Amino acid sequence: MPNFEPIADQKIPSAILNTLLGKSAIPHALLFLGMEGTGKQVAAIKFAMACNCLANSASKSSLHSDKGGVLKNPEDEIPCGDCISCRKILSKSHPDIIEIKPSGSYIKIAQIRDLCEILALKPYEAKIRVVIISDVQTMNAAAGNAILKVLEEPPERTVLILTATEQSDIIPTIASRCQFVRFNPVSQTRLAEMLVETKGITPDSAAIFAAMANGSFSRALEIGNVAGLKKRDWVINEIESLSLEETGKCLLLAEKISKDKDEFIEYLEILKVWFRDIIVFEYHPDKIIFFDLLDKIQNASGRHTKPDLLLRFDAIESCRQNVRANVNLRLTAETLLLGFAQNQ
Ligand SMILES: [Zn+2]
Repeated sequence: MPNFEPIADQKIPSAILNTLLGKSAIPHALLFLGMEGTGKQVAAIKFAMACNCLANSASKSSLHSDKGGVLKNPEDEIPCGDCISCRKILSKSHPDIIEIKPSGSYIKIAQIRDLCEILALKPYEAKIRVVIISDVQTMNAAAGNAILKVLEEPPERTVLILTATEQSDIIPTIASRCQFVRFNPVSQTRLAEMLVETKGITPDSAAIFAAMANGSFSRALEIGNVAGLKKRDWVINEIESLSLEETGKCLLLAEKISKDKDEFIEYLEILKVWFRDIIVFEYHPDKIIFFDLLDKIQNASGRHTKPDLLLRFDAIESCRQNVRANVNLRLTAETLLLGFAQNQ
């Protein structure tokens, strides 16, 4: 079996892809499902490299068949990252590895028509041509139908890898023709490690950003800076100063934090950590995550009772579910904040 290099913190997707490569039984279409920043794109590229890596002598095996070839050396790391094929894919110059991303907000029918013209021809040089279509939930109906036709009559030596955040966002007839590979949110520990490795920040700061990133590495990278901390401090100050006498202020804050869905979820993650820290402070002050706000946490712990904090936790969780389910964002923010103000 090829030693497919594991994708950060994604043991199950790595194992599934490894098995497919090992058996050389690669399906015509894979659907990578998972929230943004969990490594779907990286995995798709690595998979394309592994399918075509010249260090893998399973090349002679036929696609979509169980009768796979044998590796030269089972310990070979696949993809090698060093052969001509791997290097072309890494430098985005391989003619048979095609990436399609939303143009603006949508994947347009013209993009899929262009793709169909390419797919009508044989691959130029790849053992297996790989088409990666990201964020398929942004395809309109016409583009979706065109992809469906491709899936109904799969082109030779070609794998389509579609990526999306949720299964429910995808046309069921497309989803039913794909093998699913689910990507989990990245754990806080792994996120923190990756931040230390890539940004060179201290483990303590990395732990703060990892807690705020809600399992998404790209989110952690985005917020892992001074502006991210300012945003955190701003929302905590606003929340702690809410009062029922100032309903107008509550509603204004609700409007501000609910403008953007991803940002709203980010604020909810911050508040969850904040209230968690207030609870934890009493028992394990050494285990608080926002350790740089120790004085504030100590101060807040005197103002909130434990039952109130637990209620706030539940309210944040149900608010988050509403946001995910695309319930009216502003309304759900107003409900949350007025509830907080009531118990202030
Ligand atoms: Zn290679």
